[in-house]
Amino acid sequence: MRHLLDRQRRAPAVLALVVLLLTLAAPFARAATPAPNPNNKPAEGKHYVVGTDTTFAPFEFRAANGDLVGIDMDLLHAIAQDQGFTVEVRSLGFDAAVQALQSRQVDAVMAGMSITEPRKQVFDFSDAYFDSGVQFAAPKTSSVNSLADLKGKRVAVKTGTAGADYADSVKTQYGFSTVAFGQTADMVNDVSTGNSAAYIDDFPVVAYSIQQGAPMKLIGEKAPAGSYGMAVNKGTDPELIAAFNQGLANIRANGEYDRVLAKYLGEQGTTQRTGFFTLLADSFPTLMKGLALTIAAAALSILFAMVLGVVFGFFKVSGNLALSWLATAYVAIFRGTPVLVQVFFFYFGIPAVTGITLTAFTAGVITLSLNAGAYMTEIVRGGIQGVDRGQMEAARSLGLPYMKAMNKVVLPQAIKIMTPSFINQFIITLKDTSLLAVIGLAELTYMGQQIIARNFRSFEMWLIIGVIYFIVIGLLTIASNKVDKRFNK
Ligand code: GLN
Repeated sequence: MRHLLDRQRRAPAVLALVVLLLTLAAPFARAATPAPNPNNKPAEGKHYVVGTDTTFAPFEFRAANGDLVGIDMDLLHAIAQDQGFTVEVRSLGFDAAVQALQSRQVDAVMAGMSITEPRKQVFDFSDAYFDSGVQFAAPKTSSVNSLADLKGKRVAVKTGTAGADYADSVKTQYGFSTVAFGQTADMVNDVSTGNSAAYIDDFPVVAYSIQQGAPMKLIGEKAPAGSYGMAVNKGTDPELIAAFNQGLANIRANGEYDRVLAKYLGEQGTTQRTGFFTLLADSFPTLMKGLALTIAAAALSILFAMVLGVVFGFFKVSGNLALSWLATAYVAIFRGTPVLVQVFFFYFGIPAVTGITLTAFTAGVITLSLNAGAYMTEIVRGGIQGVDRGQMEAARSLGLPYMKAMNKVVLPQAIKIMTPSFINQFIITLKDTSLLAVIGLAELTYMGQQIIARNFRSFEMWLIIGVIYFIVIGLLTIASNKVDKRFNK
């Protein structure tokens, strides 16, 4: 009892001490553990997935070490820190990011996205954080010097962008046609190779690439196309928009905004063109990161596909009508549609109706497993049926039960027949992982696109990437053949 009284008497003193300490520590503690104050920081403690473009330097692009950097990225992280929320960025491509937002795969898009009237019908935008415009560009050495020179020629545009809309609005006036690409890098490549005479992109992006040494020149006048803002689905995330605006105002006030802009837009001189081996050495770490994902996605898909193939393959030969019908339907669907369509279906389509979002890796592995599984089903069926019927009959007549006859007599022969086709399918699946670049899985092909978008050296880079795939597939083939020899003697 005395104890308790003591404690009670001491309480005010202890409290005063704590308050004093807290006051003293406040300036230091603030940054580390912000006090929860829902009114001041509307998105505090929340986590958001933000979709962005793949290669839209200086707003988002891969640094030499493979990190996603740029004005958008730095502003986003600075604002998130200021407002006490966390972000996970998915680098998808502009059109893909907007689709991902609509299918709720991501909570927001920050991708040099212009605030335009039609977009305001479907999205809520933050305050503008960068003034932009669009402009045409053509190879430095080309005879195209004005929009009039584009008559009868082809212009590369980027799907779903303000630049594409602008090009469409003036193409009859100047008499050119357009072709759409998903990535800035692909537009630039199409122009570099001479397929298209010019391309259109956001002015700061074209200007930056020229400053970085891209052999291009600006054509015509810069056309207004709205300022950049961060977008969320209409009515879905008012807190994020409010927090973004507040954070943006704060980092404008404290100088962080200017620092970020100066970092990417300041005088930095053009980068020197390096030799082939320097290019190889520089890009190697990034490519290896990509290769690791390629191998992981391929290995998992092949494993699951084997299981699917064996299960459905046996369904097909089971003699059970329902099971074999099920297997036939499965094979028909996955063999009868392109893999790319299946990838889009699982990544964009399913989440749009179910609300269950999948990462690019999960959606990719599901697609490739199901796709390869369909082919493996046919391999298993073909293998089993390829063994002479007499083998089963002979085994059964010797008194072996069905399962035993299958396991001991038919399957060993069937597996021998199946193996070469399996190895073939492993290789196809490994190569198909490159398709997953379209949904932003940072595998080998994707990493290659990212590097090219920065250094514009498509010939050398695709050669390097081709050789890497060749080596890996070579190793896979050798390993598979070894296993084949060992088990199918
Ligand atoms: N600013 C353009 C738009 O919003 C292009 C954006 C981009 O390509 N990332 O349409």
